[in-house]
Formats: sequence, C-alpha cells, structure tokens
Amino acid sequence: MAAQGDGQAWAFERAAELLVSSRYTIGMTGAGVSVESGIPPFRGPGGLWTRDGEPPLDAYQRFLADPKGYWEQRLDAPNEIVQALMRAQPNAGHYAMVALEQLGMLRCLITQNIDNLHRAAGHQQVAEIHGNAQRLRCIQCRQRFPLAAIPISRDALPPRCPECAGIIKSDTVHFGEPIPPDVLEVCFREARQADCMLVAGTSAFVYPAASFPQMVKEQGGALIEVNLYETPLTPLADCSLRGPFAEILPAVVERVRAKLIA
Ligand SMILES: [Zn+2]
Repeated sequence: MAAQGDGQAWAFERAAELLVSSRYTIGMTGAGVSVESGIPPFRGPGGLWTRDGEPPLDAYQRFLADPKGYWEQRLDAPNEIVQALMRAQPNAGHYAMVALEQLGMLRCLITQNIDNLHRAAGHQQVAEIHGNAQRLRCIQCRQRFPLAAIPISRDALPPRCPECAGIIKSDTVHFGEPIPPDVLEVCFREARQADCMLVAGTSAFVYPAASFPQMVKEQGGALIEVNLYETPLTPLADCSLRGPFAEILPAVVERVRAKLIA
C-alpha cells in the first residue's frame, strides 16, 4: 500500500497497540475525511470559501431576522456544497471507523463534518458539532428531524416544528450560531473520560474541536493522528499516520484485528 512506507510500520504498530490497550477511545474527524468522498472543503486550497469568500459572520442573526427569506433562498438556489453532499458516499475510512466502533474500540465519534457520511456508513455514536445537513432542527425545542419528515411548502415559510411550533432551520450550525448545547455536552463528557483519541482529517484549530485532543492529552491520554499533512496537533501526537484516511484507517483496523487474534 502506497501510504505505508517502512518508516510508517512503527506508527501503525503503535496505533494498533494504543487502540487495543486503551480503556476508552474516542474519535474526531474533520474536512479531510469528507474530501476523500468528493466533498469540497470550505477552507484551504480549492476550498469553497477560499474561492467564493466566507459566508457572512452573522449568518445566524440574518436567519433569525428573516427566516422566511432564508428558506426562500434555500429553495431557490441549492448551492454547490448541497449538491456535493447529496452525491457523496462513505469511503473505506468511514467503514473502518465503524469496524472500530463494533470492536468496542471507539466509544464516540465527534465530527466537524455535516455530510452524514459516518452515520450512512453505519456509525452509531456520532456527535456532530456543526450539525447534519440531512437533518432539520427546531430552534426552540432543538428536536432534530430527517429532511423528509418536515413538509416544506412555499406558501408556509418558514416551516414550523410539529412538536412546539418553533421555527425550523437546517441542523447545520451557521456562523454566529452557538454550537447546540446538547451536542457540546456529549463532546465534553466523552472527552473527559477518554484515555485515547484518534483524530483524522482535521488540524483541529477551530474551537471547540481544538479543546478535545488538548483535554485528552492533559488527562494523560494518548493521541493518534491520521492526516495527509503535519498539523498543529502533530507535536502532541503519540503517533502520526501520514496518508489518506481511506487507506490508513483500514490498515489500522487490520492490525488491530491481528492483535486481537494473537
Ligand atoms: Zn420544536
């Protein structure tokens, strides 16, 4: 496999060892994981925001000021990212993460991605800090609904929550919008009890994501990093696996399985 030079053999061995020996491992993924499923990133080279400019920093306040206008815009102009999200399929890395969960070696997965691909692959415990584009959320009672569950009619915008009649928006977290407290609570609770963390496809420089690997390290836990490039997390990592998520993760699972049999 191209991703594994001889120099990486040690890192794979170490990663498998940490996963097998840790008491409570959590994961975190970011844009790099989705890029391998054909979803364009927001930031960085080739990023949608790099090309088109960042969305307004007060996008959430604009939504609150004019929810009807937000929905009209959403219905009129399905944007590039939405179309890419609809087409995207989980890659081998997403499935390898599911395998780790099924082996009991990944208790919770925090993701910054909104594409639903971890769930589509079959992952059970997922905390989506930036929401999920396949879901809608009531801004009042915070209940989430699958897209198809809320009828959207141009004559009655914005759509209303069937439970509390609150205004419905996309579950994705907009600029200016607080991370939903229920999700944030899960993330901090999981990070507090973790003694190992597997971070893939993110440099985790955006808060709150940046807090979690930091917490795990401060508690004396181990950090496994999977990324194409060095990141600000690399110096903190107990082992760094360089290469594509879709190649590295299946190789890690293979070694974990070999250790379990041995
Ligand atoms: Zn509601």
